[in-house]
Amino acid sequence: MADTLFAPDESAMHAIGAALAARIRPGDVIGLSGGLGAGKTTLTRGLLSALGLAGEAPSPSFAIVQPYDPPLVRMPVAHVDLYRIDEPEDVEELGLDEYLEDGALVIEWPGRMGNRIWPDALLLDIAVEPDGARRLTATVPFAWRDRWPPL
Ligand code: ADP
Ligand code: MG
Repeated sequence: MADTLFAPDESAMHAIGAALAARIRPGDVIGLSGGLGAGKTTLTRGLLSALGLAGEAPSPSFAIVQPYDPPLVRMPVAHVDLYRIDEPEDVEELGLDEYLEDGALVIEWPGRMGNRIWPDALLLDIAVEPDGARRLTATVPFAWRDRWPPL
């Protein structure tokens, strides 16, 4: 199932992240693709703040994996940015599976891990429209069928 969401501005992008936060469960993987500046981190910040994170989440690029755990957030979420991963096998050493035991993953640049992406990941591809709005094209797996659309 594929579906499209529109975010005309940054606050709408935040709201989509917040709506996903209301539905996310331990074991979930959300992949966010789209070019630099598409809004992947903006959506992730909306999700994290809806999970209770106070203040703004840093861009994780320098860390690759930025975990957030209770009591900062109501459920563990690791924010992952694979932009600097050159080879799909390089994700192995990140140990991402461990985060899924009791939490969820939000992954920017999931294409960098090639076919190592989990088959039941919710994939959102963000495109910038001519007027600057963002169009999110979702690939909705079976695991999300009763949680879609999120808003
Ligand atoms: P990415 O993580 O994809 O590189 P960021 O979220 O860091 O992108 O930056 C996106 C930029 O675009 C920010 O300046 C943000 O304010 C802006 N932005 C995010 N979502 C939207 C939107 N729906 N419409 C217009 N601008 C947006
Ligand atoms: Mg980013």
